[in-house]
Amino acid sequence: MSHTKYHQELIATAKAIVAPGKGILAADESTGTIGNRFQKINLENNEPNRRAYRDLLINTEGDINKFIGGVILYEETLYQKDDNGTPFPEILKKKGIITGIKVDKGTVQIPGAGEGETATQGLDGLADRCKKYYEAGARFAKWRAVLKIDVPKGLPSQLAITENAHTLARYAAICQENGLVPIVEPEILMDGTHTIEDSAVITEKVLAAVFKALNDHHILLEGALLKPNMVLNGTTNAQPAAPERVAELTVRTLQRTVPPALPGIVFLSGGQTELEATANLNAMNLLPNRPWSVSFSYGRALQASIIATWKGSSDNIEAARKVYMHRALCNSLAQLGKYPGEEATATNSQSLFVANYKY
Ligand code: 13P
Repeated sequence: MSHTKYHQELIATAKAIVAPGKGILAADESTGTIGNRFQKINLENNEPNRRAYRDLLINTEGDINKFIGGVILYEETLYQKDDNGTPFPEILKKKGIITGIKVDKGTVQIPGAGEGETATQGLDGLADRCKKYYEAGARFAKWRAVLKIDVPKGLPSQLAITENAHTLARYAAICQENGLVPIVEPEILMDGTHTIEDSAVITEKVLAAVFKALNDHHILLEGALLKPNMVLNGTTNAQPAAPERVAELTVRTLQRTVPPALPGIVFLSGGQTELEATANLNAMNLLPNRPWSVSFSYGRALQASIIATWKGSSDNIEAARKVYMHRALCNSLAQLGKYPGEEATATNSQSLFVANYKY
């Protein structure tokens, strides 16, 4: 897609987000989803509390910009300001962190497809919204497509794969036309009884379809990022596989499907514990033949301990920021294959799995 006027800018933005040691903080929970998080700490889900929490993350001082290259925001947060009246994207920019924006409008059942198989909404009017978001300071976007595995029922169906590959590619083209680097996220859920080998076969099939669609839609791969699931066994299949096994099958799947032109692969955590998500990322970065930056774009696995420490009280903000720094540092080290491991605590090894997760 060499004709977009943003060609060079898209390439530079994508590369900067996944520079060595850097990944993404996904803080783009919709109003409903952040409400579920607040419920755990008995905090009311209102605008001031949502702003206070996002301020805690965005106004973290110090070396955070060495570990975090981009932060994905929800639309409400993009237009919020801190206590001094500075818009959040401006604060991030001053720190050298790139602002991202969630642009999809959630999922709906695909009529006639398998039970629970969904299409993602939000293409109508997307070009106009991208223009507005760019003006507000956003430089990259996220769109989450969701697929589920049910081997006995033959899911994901070809219909669900084709529909989601197509809409991801349409979304990516519209973003690039308007200066936003698209994060292409075909999330295959952990829910289910499938084996890790089933997950490898299906993830490979889905990614192959997604990259075919991206090519059909003339996507500039150098100015895009992929946000896939790791290859894992289903949550009700067995204990989680060892990081070495996860890394072997995940990297093999990516090598078979993702062109080296793409600058970065940023994993979602998907319900893994904080420790699993970090250890699995580290194991991948110890393997050979990775032509892309292999990094993180975690929501739950970066924020669970932060929220548990904050508890909604201004007295705990500094303690919660220390926890954020620590998790960001650990994932940064994992991006470099230098994570030494950590002692497990009740929080960092707590399961973050939610059945049929909605973002
Ligand atoms: P999790 O890391 O909690 O899976 O969320 C990442 C994300 O942005 C999903 O769209």
